Amino acid sequence: MQCEPLIAWCRERGIAYRRDEPLRRHTYTAIGGPADVALFPETGQIPALVQMLRSLSIPYLVLGKGSNLLVSDRGVRGAVLFTHRLRGSELNVREGRVRVSAGVPLQQALRIAADAGLAGMEGLAGVPGTVGGAVAGNAGSFGVEMKDVVASVTIVSADGAAREIPASAMGFHYRASLVPDHGIITDVRLSLHPDSPRTIHSRILEYRAQKRLSQPVASRSAGCAFKNPEGMSAGRLIDEAGCKGMRAGAIEVSPLHANFLINLGGGSANDYRMLMAQVSAKVYQRCGVVLQPEIRMVGEWSS
Ligand SMILES: Cc1cc2nc3c(=O)[nH]c(=O)nc-3n(C[C@H](O)[C@H](O)[C@H](O)COP(=O)(O)OP(=O)(O)OC[C@H]3O[C@@H](n4cnc5c(N)ncnc54)[C@H](O)[C@@H]3O)c2cc1C
Repeated sequence: MQCEPLIAWCRERGIAYRRDEPLRRHTYTAIGGPADVALFPETGQIPALVQMLRSLSIPYLVLGKGSNLLVSDRGVRGAVLFTHRLRGSELNVREGRVRVSAGVPLQQALRIAADAGLAGMEGLAGVPGTVGGAVAGNAGSFGVEMKDVVASVTIVSADGAAREIPASAMGFHYRASLVPDHGIITDVRLSLHPDSPRTIHSRILEYRAQKRLSQPVASRSAGCAFKNPEGMSAGRLIDEAGCKGMRAGAIEVSPLHANFLINLGGGSANDYRMLMAQVSAKVYQRCGVVLQPEIRMVGEWSS
């Protein structure tokens, strides 16, 4: 893709970029081919950058910490816009409000809130990724979802305009929200309630410990590969279908938690996708349930 005019424009404005950036460096699976151009803007640079991408007809993908994505082996044509540099937070303890930038790691946001004696997010302890990624996918754990704590979200849309959207208009549902196509979440306002920092921190530690026991948190995965079907656990269905330990190339169904597919080292996106298809087929054969992917597949695929 012709990215030279974009590169020249970014250079003039001091927007950090890299050409042909291997995305496996930026994903939890350690899988993913190159992005034609990787962009690392700060919040104030995003509106003009989005307008420029649009005027040059360069497609773009937003990437947080890459903990819920499967990037194809061929990589991403066009631009990948990283949110690493969207950093910062503000507390209003009296009103139970925290404003946090989308690139802040979710676990850092939990710590900031806990230190200030603001509770409500502890169930999300141990969920990797950024605050923006958590909002986009309505991340949830131990009975808490982002929708329970988000008051409003600032989104820069494809026309470069920044708008504050109330949570009620975010269309939050199970592991999804209605962030418009090419919308970039830049800031999130959380609504929390008071509790003692000590109690909040101890709940966080407790949830984290539970996660470590039941999930392969230190392995290279993208979290749960499949959504839980209504009233059922995808992990249990996969386990009952006898899939634990199944492999495609260097990708394995975790023996600890069957809904996690792990890259044992040097695995490919094609193998990851193939193993997902094999697991789905086995679950369907055994119990007639069609599993839906939870991880997002992005980039250029051969078929
Ligand atoms: C070990 C492990 C455990 C996990 N446990 C859980 C769990 O318990 N519960 C759970 O819900 N998830 C879990 N996940 C999945 C993942 O951590 C979450 O979905 C996380 O919120 C994704 O954040 P991210 O920054 O990594 O997003 P990415 O993976 O970078 O992106 C995910 C999607 O969000 C979009 N996006 C990211 N940032 C923005 C932004 N600023 N604006 C607009 N769109 C954006 C991307 O375009 C992409 O479509 C787990 C993952 C791992 C590896």
